[in-house]
Amino acid sequence: MSETTQQRLDTLAQKIIDTDVCAELKAQATQLVMGDGNPDAAIVFIGEAPGKSEDLKGKPFIGAAGKFLNVMLEAAGMERSDVYITNIVKYRPPNNRDPLPDEKAAFLPYLLQELDIIKPEVVIALGRHSMEYFLPEAKISEVHGQPHQVTVDGREILLMPLYHPAVAIYDRGKRQTMIDDFLKVPALIDQTKESA
Ligand code: URA
Repeated sequence: MSETTQQRLDTLAQKIIDTDVCAELKAQATQLVMGDGNPDAAIVFIGEAPGKSEDLKGKPFIGAAGKFLNVMLEAAGMERSDVYITNIVKYRPPNNRDPLPDEKAAFLPYLLQELDIIKPEVVIALGRHSMEYFLPEAKISEVHGQPHQVTVDGREILLMPLYHPAVAIYDRGKRQTMIDDFLKVPALIDQTKESA
């Protein structure tokens, strides 16, 4: 019997643990926070790194930023079970500091394997840390809400950079822009179907 997508993701999670990726972060974290949601989804959201709530529960985006992500998903007529949500760095950085360049570099091959297992049509980069691999020259303040065709490991993907949901917590003035950007997401999936 062939393995399910979820089984392949579980094997990947075990490999990250067994090979001691970012051993220093691992030593300080409660647990690995792997992606969550529908492993067969056409759309994958990529955040930055787990925060305190995510570290404790082992699931991405369940704290304050996750609540605003849920608000935006609902506004766009989507549910978390329709999509897959993950982070580039999968252990919580101490005191929620930004992930360091070598931490992002260490986790990148595993993020790419995660994408290779799920094979999404659309990838949403939540914030600059997850956007920088796909669009290295771009500034999130200039490209948010604008889809880009990118090639990842030989596969065409529609990449949509969005502000990180935590931005809405410290800059409430951006909330409406963020919701407006998010409302463009469902049409991206239709767009990939039309061009298939
Ligand atoms: N911020 C992120 O980037 N990821 C999470 O999982 C939680 C907060």
